[in-house]
Amino acid sequence: MSSIRLLDRSDAETAATPRVIGLVCRACGHAAPLQATNMCEECFGPLEVQYDYAEVARRVSRESIAAGPASIWRYRALLPIESDDVEPISLGEGWTPLIHARNLGEELGLRNLYVKNDTLNPTGSFKDRVVSVALTWAREQGFATVACASTGNLANSVAAYAASAGLRAVVLVPAGIEPGKITATSVYRPTLVRINGSYDDVNRLCTELIDTVDWAFCNINLRPFYSEGSKTLTFETVEQLGWRLPDEIVIPVASGCQFVKHEKAVRELIDLGLVDASPRPRLTGAQAAGCGPVATAFAGGSDLVTPVRPSTIAHSIAIGNPSDGADVLRISRATGGVVESVTEDEIVEGIELLAATEGLFAEAAGGVTVAVLRKLARAGRWQPDATVVAYITGHGLKTADAVAGRAALADPIAPSLRTFVAEHADLIG
Ligand SMILES: *Cc1c(COP(=O)(O)O)cnc(C)c1O
Ligand SMILES: [Zn+2]
Repeated sequence: MSSIRLLDRSDAETAATPRVIGLVCRACGHAAPLQATNMCEECFGPLEVQYDYAEVARRVSRESIAAGPASIWRYRALLPIESDDVEPISLGEGWTPLIHARNLGEELGLRNLYVKNDTLNPTGSFKDRVVSVALTWAREQGFATVACASTGNLANSVAAYAASAGLRAVVLVPAGIEPGKITATSVYRPTLVRINGSYDDVNRLCTELIDTVDWAFCNINLRPFYSEGSKTLTFETVEQLGWRLPDEIVIPVASGCQFVKHEKAVRELIDLGLVDASPRPRLTGAQAAGCGPVATAFAGGSDLVTPVRPSTIAHSIAIGNPSDGADVLRISRATGGVVESVTEDEIVEGIELLAATEGLFAEAAGGVTVAVLRKLARAGRWQPDATVVAYITGHGLKTADAVAGRAALADPIAPSLRTFVAEHADLIG
Protein backbone atom coordinates (compact mmCIF):
# COMPACT_ATOMS: atom_id res chain seq x y z
CA MET A 1 0.00 0.00 0.00
CA SER A 2 1.25 3.47 -0.76
CA SER A 3 0.89 6.39 1.60
CA ILE A 4 1.21 8.89 -1.22
CA ARG A 5 -1.99 10.76 -1.88
CA LEU A 6 -2.47 13.44 -4.46
CA LEU A 7 -4.75 16.35 -3.73
CA ASP A 8 -8.10 16.08 -5.40
CA ARG A 9 -8.28 19.26 -7.40
CA SER A 10 -11.43 18.36 -9.30
CA ASP A 11 -13.93 20.21 -7.13
CA ALA A 12 -14.98 23.68 -8.16
CA GLU A 13 -13.78 25.34 -4.98
CA THR A 14 -10.09 24.61 -5.52
CA ALA A 15 -10.39 25.60 -9.18
CA ALA A 16 -9.91 29.21 -7.98
CA THR A 17 -6.29 30.43 -8.02
CA PRO A 18 -4.59 28.15 -5.50
CA ARG A 19 -2.72 29.69 -2.60
CA VAL A 20 -0.91 26.46 -1.67
CA ILE A 21 0.83 25.43 -4.86
CA GLY A 22 3.07 22.48 -4.14
CA LEU A 23 6.10 21.10 -2.40
CA VAL A 24 9.66 22.13 -3.16
CA CYS A 25 12.95 20.63 -2.00
CA ARG A 26 14.84 22.84 0.43
CA ALA A 27 18.17 21.40 -0.79
CA CYS A 28 17.89 21.19 -4.60
CA GLY A 29 14.73 23.12 -5.49
CA HIS A 30 13.05 20.15 -7.18
CA ALA A 31 9.26 20.63 -7.22
CA ALA A 32 6.77 17.96 -6.18
CA PRO A 33 2.97 17.87 -6.01
CA LEU A 34 1.13 18.29 -2.70
CA GLN A 35 1.19 14.83 -1.17
CA ALA A 36 1.99 13.00 2.05
CA THR A 37 5.73 12.76 1.67
CA ASN A 38 8.66 14.51 3.28
CA MET A 39 11.57 13.58 1.05
CA CYS A 40 12.74 14.89 -2.32
CA GLU A 41 12.79 12.08 -4.89
CA GLU A 42 15.89 13.59 -6.50
CA CYS A 43 18.19 14.18 -3.53
CA PHE A 44 16.30 12.96 -0.38
CA GLY A 45 16.31 16.57 0.89
CA PRO A 46 13.44 17.93 3.04
CA LEU A 47 10.34 19.25 1.28
CA GLU A 48 8.75 22.62 2.00
CA VAL A 49 5.23 23.81 1.32
CA GLN A 50 5.25 26.46 -1.37
CA TYR A 51 2.68 29.24 -1.48
CA ASP A 52 1.62 31.69 -4.14
CA TYR A 53 2.54 34.74 -2.06
CA ALA A 54 0.64 37.11 -4.35
CA GLU A 55 -2.46 35.10 -3.48
CA VAL A 56 -1.52 35.12 0.23
CA ALA A 57 -0.97 38.90 0.07
CA ARG A 58 -4.47 39.39 -1.32
CA ARG A 59 -5.92 37.72 1.78
CA VAL A 60 -3.73 38.89 4.61
CA SER A 61 -3.16 42.14 6.48
CA ARG A 62 -2.48 43.11 10.09
CA GLU A 63 -6.19 43.90 10.35
CA SER A 64 -7.41 40.60 8.93
CA ILE A 65 -5.11 38.75 11.32
CA ALA A 66 -6.28 40.79 14.31
CA ALA A 67 -9.89 39.98 13.37
CA GLY A 68 -9.14 36.24 13.37
CA PRO A 69 -9.49 33.72 16.22
CA ALA A 70 -7.28 33.77 19.33
CA SER A 71 -5.42 30.69 18.09
CA ILE A 72 -2.86 29.73 15.46
CA TRP A 73 -5.70 29.86 12.93
CA ARG A 74 -5.57 33.68 12.84
CA TYR A 75 -2.64 33.03 10.44
CA ARG A 76 -4.43 30.49 8.28
CA ALA A 77 -3.54 32.41 5.09
CA LEU A 78 0.04 31.23 5.83
CA LEU A 79 -0.87 27.66 6.69
CA PRO A 80 -1.12 24.82 4.16
CA ILE A 81 -4.90 24.25 4.28
CA GLU A 82 -6.17 25.55 0.96
CA SER A 83 -9.87 26.03 1.58
CA ASP A 84 -11.14 28.61 4.04
CA ASP A 85 -14.24 26.44 4.50
CA VAL A 86 -12.30 23.70 6.24
CA GLU A 87 -13.00 23.60 9.96
CA PRO A 88 -9.63 23.19 11.72
CA ILE A 89 -9.09 20.44 14.26
CA SER A 90 -8.44 22.80 17.13
CA LEU A 91 -8.35 22.71 20.92
CA GLY A 92 -7.43 26.39 21.15
CA GLU A 93 -3.69 26.06 20.49
CA GLY A 94 -1.51 29.13 20.16
CA TRP A 95 -2.02 32.84 20.93
CA THR A 96 -0.11 32.15 24.12
CA PRO A 97 1.15 35.06 26.24
CA LEU A 98 4.37 36.88 25.44
CA ILE A 99 5.57 37.90 28.90
CA HIS A 100 7.85 40.88 29.48
CA ALA A 101 10.23 39.07 31.84
CA ARG A 102 11.29 42.02 34.00
CA ASN A 103 12.59 40.01 36.95
CA LEU A 104 14.56 37.50 34.94
CA GLY A 105 15.70 40.37 32.74
CA GLU A 106 17.01 42.23 35.78
CA GLU A 107 18.92 39.12 36.81
CA LEU A 108 20.47 38.87 33.35
CA GLY A 109 20.95 42.57 32.60
CA LEU A 110 18.29 42.70 29.90
CA ARG A 111 15.57 45.35 29.98
CA ASN A 112 13.64 43.98 27.01
CA LEU A 113 13.63 40.27 27.69
CA TYR A 114 10.45 38.37 26.76
CA VAL A 115 9.41 34.78 27.25
CA LYS A 116 6.85 33.21 24.95
CA ASN A 117 4.85 31.02 27.29
CA ASP A 118 3.99 28.03 25.14
CA THR A 119 3.46 25.91 28.24
CA LEU A 120 -0.13 27.16 28.04
CA ASN A 121 -1.12 25.14 25.00
CA PRO A 122 -3.93 22.56 25.39
CA THR A 123 -1.61 19.61 26.08
CA GLY A 124 1.12 21.75 27.61
CA SER A 125 3.61 22.05 24.78
CA PHE A 126 4.23 23.82 21.50
CA LYS A 127 3.50 20.54 19.66
CA ASP A 128 -0.20 21.42 19.68
CA ARG A 129 0.52 24.05 17.02
CA VAL A 130 2.01 21.56 14.58
CA VAL A 131 -0.44 18.76 15.37
CA SER A 132 -3.47 20.99 14.81
CA VAL A 133 -2.19 21.76 11.31
CA ALA A 134 -1.12 18.18 10.54
CA LEU A 135 -4.38 16.55 11.63
CA THR A 136 -6.49 19.14 9.84
CA TRP A 137 -4.55 18.40 6.65
CA ALA A 138 -4.72 14.62 7.21
CA ARG A 139 -8.49 14.62 7.69
CA GLU A 140 -8.94 16.68 4.53
CA GLN A 141 -6.91 14.07 2.67
CA GLY A 142 -9.07 11.26 3.98
CA PHE A 143 -6.60 9.62 6.36
CA ALA A 144 -8.38 7.59 9.05
CA THR A 145 -5.29 6.88 11.14
CA VAL A 146 -2.79 9.42 12.41
CA ALA A 147 0.51 8.39 13.95
CA CYS A 148 3.83 9.70 15.20
CA ALA A 149 7.26 8.88 16.55
CA SER A 150 7.60 10.90 19.73
CA THR A 151 9.80 11.76 22.67
CA GLY A 152 6.59 12.41 24.63
CA ASN A 153 5.08 15.78 23.86
CA LEU A 154 4.09 14.92 20.32
CA ALA A 155 2.50 11.72 21.63
CA ASN A 156 0.42 13.74 24.15
CA SER A 157 -0.71 16.09 21.44
CA VAL A 158 -1.48 13.57 18.69
CA ALA A 159 -3.48 11.42 21.11
CA ALA A 160 -5.53 14.40 22.34
CA TYR A 161 -6.22 15.94 18.94
CA ALA A 162 -7.07 12.57 17.38
CA ALA A 163 -9.55 11.94 20.22
CA SER A 164 -11.21 15.27 19.60
CA ALA A 165 -11.37 14.69 15.84
CA GLY A 166 -12.51 11.07 16.04
CA LEU A 167 -9.41 9.81 14.23
CA ARG A 168 -7.55 6.65 15.16
CA ALA A 169 -4.14 7.39 16.73
CA VAL A 170 -1.08 5.12 16.81
CA VAL A 171 1.69 6.59 18.92
CA LEU A 172 5.22 5.14 19.14
CA VAL A 173 7.56 6.26 21.93
CA PRO A 174 10.86 5.14 23.49
CA ALA A 175 10.06 3.10 26.61
CA GLY A 176 12.34 5.34 28.68
CA ILE A 177 10.33 8.59 28.51
CA GLU A 178 8.85 10.16 31.65
CA PRO A 179 5.94 8.23 33.24
CA GLY A 180 3.92 11.46 33.28
CA LYS A 181 4.12 11.67 29.52
CA ILE A 182 2.91 8.07 29.18
CA THR A 183 -0.08 8.87 31.41
CA ALA A 184 -0.81 12.13 29.61
CA THR A 185 -0.92 10.18 26.34
CA SER A 186 -2.69 6.96 27.33
CA VAL A 187 -5.55 8.85 28.98
CA TYR A 188 -6.81 9.67 25.45
CA ARG A 189 -6.81 5.93 24.60
CA PRO A 190 -4.61 5.88 21.51
CA THR A 191 -2.78 2.72 20.50
CA LEU A 192 0.39 3.44 22.46
CA VAL A 193 3.43 1.39 21.45
CA ARG A 194 6.49 1.56 23.70
CA ILE A 195 9.75 0.65 22.03
CA ASN A 196 12.89 -0.61 23.73
CA GLY A 197 15.20 1.87 22.06
CA SER A 198 16.01 5.54 21.62
CA TYR A 199 13.90 8.12 19.81
CA ASP A 200 16.13 7.64 16.79
CA ASP A 201 15.28 3.91 16.79
CA VAL A 202 11.56 4.73 17.01
CA ASN A 203 11.83 7.22 14.18
CA ARG A 204 13.60 4.71 11.95
CA LEU A 205 10.94 2.09 12.66
CA CYS A 206 8.20 4.56 11.71
CA THR A 207 9.99 5.43 8.48
CA GLU A 208 9.98 1.72 7.61
CA LEU A 209 6.30 1.41 8.55
CA ILE A 210 5.30 4.10 6.09
CA ASP A 211 5.84 1.70 3.20
CA THR A 212 3.48 -0.80 4.82
CA VAL A 213 0.59 1.23 6.22
CA ASP A 214 -1.58 4.05 4.96
CA TRP A 215 -1.22 6.27 7.99
CA ALA A 216 -0.49 9.95 8.42
CA PHE A 217 2.70 10.12 10.49
CA CYS A 218 2.66 13.74 11.66
CA ASN A 219 6.40 14.23 11.88
CA ILE A 220 7.40 11.95 9.00
CA ASN A 221 5.32 11.76 5.83
CA LEU A 222 3.24 14.78 6.90
CA ARG A 223 6.31 16.74 8.01
CA PRO A 224 6.11 19.48 5.35
CA PHE A 225 2.56 20.34 6.47
CA TYR A 226 3.02 19.63 10.17
CA SER A 227 6.11 21.80 10.47
CA GLU A 228 4.33 24.82 8.98
CA GLY A 229 2.43 25.14 12.27
CA SER A 230 5.71 26.10 13.99
CA LYS A 231 5.75 29.42 12.13
CA THR A 232 2.86 30.64 14.25
CA LEU A 233 5.12 30.89 17.30
CA THR A 234 7.12 33.60 15.54
CA PHE A 235 4.07 35.21 13.88
CA GLU A 236 2.53 35.64 17.33
CA THR A 237 5.71 36.94 18.91
CA VAL A 238 6.06 39.62 16.25
CA GLU A 239 2.39 40.59 16.42
CA GLN A 240 2.52 40.71 20.24
CA LEU A 241 5.59 42.97 20.09
CA GLY A 242 3.40 45.39 18.12
CA TRP A 243 4.49 44.11 14.69
CA ARG A 244 8.16 44.49 15.51
CA LEU A 245 10.94 41.96 15.00
CA PRO A 246 13.00 41.13 18.10
CA ASP A 247 16.81 41.33 17.96
CA GLU A 248 17.30 37.68 18.87
CA ILE A 249 15.25 34.57 19.56
CA VAL A 250 16.51 31.66 21.68
CA ILE A 251 14.96 28.39 20.50
CA PRO A 252 15.32 24.84 21.85
CA VAL A 253 16.63 22.46 19.19
CA ALA A 254 15.73 18.77 18.93
CA SER A 255 15.36 17.74 15.26
CA GLY A 256 15.66 21.41 14.33
CA CYS A 257 12.29 21.22 12.62
CA GLN A 258 10.81 24.28 14.32
CA PHE A 259 14.04 26.30 14.28
CA VAL A 260 14.10 26.22 10.49
CA LYS A 261 10.50 27.39 10.33
CA HIS A 262 11.16 30.51 12.38
CA GLU A 263 13.43 31.77 9.63
CA LYS A 264 10.70 31.07 7.08
CA ALA A 265 8.18 32.89 9.30
CA VAL A 266 10.38 36.00 9.51
CA ARG A 267 10.92 35.96 5.75
CA GLU A 268 7.18 35.68 5.08
CA LEU A 269 6.31 38.55 7.44
CA ILE A 270 8.88 40.78 5.73
CA ASP A 271 7.96 39.76 2.18
CA LEU A 272 4.27 40.36 2.85
CA GLY A 273 5.01 43.82 4.25
CA LEU A 274 3.56 42.91 7.65
CA VAL A 275 6.74 44.05 9.39
CA ASP A 276 9.75 46.24 8.58
CA ALA A 277 12.65 44.38 7.02
CA SER A 278 15.54 45.28 9.26
CA PRO A 279 17.17 44.26 11.36
CA ARG A 280 16.38 40.57 10.99
CA PRO A 281 16.44 38.64 14.25
CA ARG A 282 19.41 36.48 15.11
CA LEU A 283 18.23 32.91 15.61
CA THR A 284 20.02 31.07 18.40
CA GLY A 285 19.66 27.39 19.24
CA ALA A 286 19.66 25.81 22.71
CA GLN A 287 20.63 22.19 23.41
CA ALA A 288 21.49 19.99 26.36
CA ALA A 289 25.18 19.07 26.42
CA GLY A 290 23.96 15.50 26.99
CA CYS A 291 22.41 15.62 23.53
CA GLY A 292 23.99 18.55 21.74
CA PRO A 293 25.17 17.37 18.32
CA VAL A 294 24.24 20.68 16.66
CA ALA A 295 25.95 22.77 19.35
CA THR A 296 29.05 20.60 19.00
CA ALA A 297 29.12 21.09 15.22
CA PHE A 298 28.56 24.83 15.67
CA ALA A 299 31.46 25.11 18.12
CA GLY A 300 33.70 23.09 15.81
CA GLY A 301 32.91 25.24 12.80
CA SER A 302 31.48 22.23 10.98
CA ASP A 303 28.62 22.22 8.46
CA LEU A 304 27.72 18.64 9.31
CA VAL A 305 26.19 17.17 12.42
CA THR A 306 27.68 13.98 13.85
CA PRO A 307 24.96 11.89 15.56
CA VAL A 308 25.26 11.20 19.29
CA ARG A 309 23.61 8.88 21.80
CA PRO A 310 21.40 11.09 24.01
CA SER A 311 21.91 11.21 27.76
CA THR A 312 19.94 14.07 29.33
CA ILE A 313 16.90 14.82 31.48
CA ALA A 314 15.64 16.99 28.61
CA HIS A 315 13.96 13.99 26.96
CA SER A 316 11.64 16.04 24.78
CA ILE A 317 14.58 17.49 22.86
CA ALA A 318 16.84 14.43 23.05
CA ILE A 319 17.26 13.65 19.36
CA GLY A 320 20.73 12.33 18.67
CA ASN A 321 20.43 12.43 14.88
CA PRO A 322 18.61 15.68 14.11
CA SER A 323 17.12 15.68 10.61
CA ASP A 324 17.33 19.47 10.21
CA GLY A 325 20.62 19.92 12.07
CA ALA A 326 22.60 21.15 9.08
CA ASP A 327 19.93 23.75 8.34
CA VAL A 328 20.04 24.93 11.96
CA LEU A 329 23.79 25.45 11.57
CA ARG A 330 23.35 27.35 8.32
CA ILE A 331 20.54 29.58 9.62
CA SER A 332 22.08 30.34 12.99
CA ARG A 333 25.31 31.40 11.28
CA ALA A 334 23.56 33.35 8.51
CA THR A 335 21.47 35.35 10.99
CA GLY A 336 24.34 35.98 13.43
CA GLY A 337 23.00 33.56 16.03
CA VAL A 338 24.81 30.75 17.86
CA VAL A 339 23.99 27.22 19.00
CA GLU A 340 24.93 26.73 22.64
CA SER A 341 24.59 23.86 25.10
CA VAL A 342 24.27 23.55 28.88
CA THR A 343 24.94 20.88 31.51
CA GLU A 344 22.33 18.86 33.39
CA ASP A 345 22.84 21.02 36.51
CA GLU A 346 22.39 24.17 34.47
CA ILE A 347 19.14 22.77 33.03
CA VAL A 348 17.70 22.29 36.52
CA GLU A 349 18.91 25.77 37.54
CA GLY A 350 17.24 27.14 34.41
CA ILE A 351 13.90 25.63 35.40
CA GLU A 352 14.25 27.01 38.93
CA LEU A 353 15.40 30.45 37.79
CA LEU A 354 12.40 30.92 35.48
CA ALA A 355 10.02 29.72 38.19
CA ALA A 356 11.52 31.92 40.92
CA THR A 357 11.72 35.07 38.80
CA GLU A 358 8.65 34.88 36.55
CA GLY A 359 6.29 32.37 38.16
CA LEU A 360 6.52 30.06 35.15
CA PHE A 361 7.13 26.34 35.51
CA ALA A 362 8.82 24.99 32.39
CA GLU A 363 9.76 21.45 31.50
CA ALA A 364 13.39 20.46 31.07
CA ALA A 365 13.47 21.79 27.49
CA GLY A 366 12.51 25.20 28.90
CA GLY A 367 15.29 24.81 31.46
CA VAL A 368 17.70 24.30 28.57
CA THR A 369 16.46 27.49 26.88
CA VAL A 370 16.69 29.61 30.03
CA ALA A 371 20.11 28.19 30.92
CA VAL A 372 21.45 29.01 27.46
CA LEU A 373 19.95 32.48 27.75
CA ARG A 374 21.70 32.97 31.09
CA LYS A 375 25.00 31.61 29.80
CA LEU A 376 24.98 33.95 26.80
CA ALA A 377 23.84 36.95 28.86
CA ARG A 378 26.64 36.37 31.38
CA ALA A 379 29.12 36.19 28.51
CA GLY A 380 28.04 39.71 27.53
CA ARG A 381 26.28 38.78 24.29
CA TRP A 382 23.65 41.53 24.47
CA GLN A 383 23.37 45.27 25.04
CA PRO A 384 21.03 45.98 27.98
CA ASP A 385 18.29 47.28 25.70
CA ALA A 386 18.36 44.42 23.17
CA THR A 387 14.97 42.80 22.57
CA VAL A 388 15.55 39.10 23.26
CA VAL A 389 12.80 36.48 23.20
CA ALA A 390 13.06 32.96 24.67
CA TYR A 391 10.65 30.28 23.49
CA ILE A 392 9.46 28.25 26.49
CA THR A 393 7.98 25.23 24.76
CA GLY A 394 6.70 22.81 27.41
CA HIS A 395 5.06 22.79 30.85
CA GLY A 396 6.97 21.84 34.01
CA LEU A 397 4.37 19.38 35.25
CA LYS A 398 5.38 17.18 32.32
CA THR A 399 8.85 16.65 33.81
CA ALA A 400 8.22 17.45 37.47
CA ASP A 401 10.76 14.79 38.48
CA ALA A 402 13.50 17.07 37.15
CA VAL A 403 13.06 19.30 40.22
CA ALA A 404 11.42 16.88 42.67
CA GLY A 405 13.12 17.01 46.08
CA ARG A 406 15.20 20.06 45.18
CA ALA A 407 13.48 22.37 47.67
CA ALA A 408 14.19 21.41 51.31
CA LEU A 409 10.84 20.81 53.02
CA ALA A 410 10.39 21.37 56.75
CA ASP A 411 8.69 18.58 58.70
CA PRO A 412 4.89 18.90 58.98
CA ILE A 413 3.69 20.70 62.11
CA ALA A 414 0.66 20.41 64.40
CA PRO A 415 -2.41 22.50 63.44
CA SER A 416 -1.85 24.82 66.38
CA LEU A 417 -1.28 28.56 66.45
CA ARG A 418 1.34 28.19 69.17
CA THR A 419 3.36 25.73 67.09
CA PHE A 420 3.11 27.91 63.99
CA VAL A 421 4.30 31.00 65.86
CA ALA A 422 7.09 29.02 67.51
CA GLU A 423 8.24 27.54 64.19
CA HIS A 424 7.89 30.72 62.13
CA ALA A 425 8.71 33.55 64.49
CA ASP A 426 10.83 35.03 61.72
CA LEU A 427 7.75 35.49 59.49
CA ILE A 428 5.74 37.18 62.21
CA GLY A 429 8.37 39.54 63.58
C1 LIG B 1 9.44 19.06 20.03
C2 LIG B 1 9.91 20.05 21.00
C3 LIG B 1 10.85 21.04 20.66
C4 LIG B 1 11.51 21.24 19.33
O1 LIG B 1 11.67 20.16 18.54
P1 LIG B 1 12.24 20.24 17.06
O2 LIG B 1 12.28 18.79 16.69
O3 LIG B 1 13.58 20.88 17.11
O4 LIG B 1 11.27 21.01 16.25
C5 LIG B 1 11.17 21.96 21.65
N1 LIG B 1 10.65 21.91 22.88
C6 LIG B 1 9.76 20.98 23.24
C7 LIG B 1 9.23 21.00 24.62
C8 LIG B 1 9.34 20.02 22.32
O5 LIG B 1 8.45 19.11 22.69
ZN1 LIG C 1 16.07 17.70 -3.65
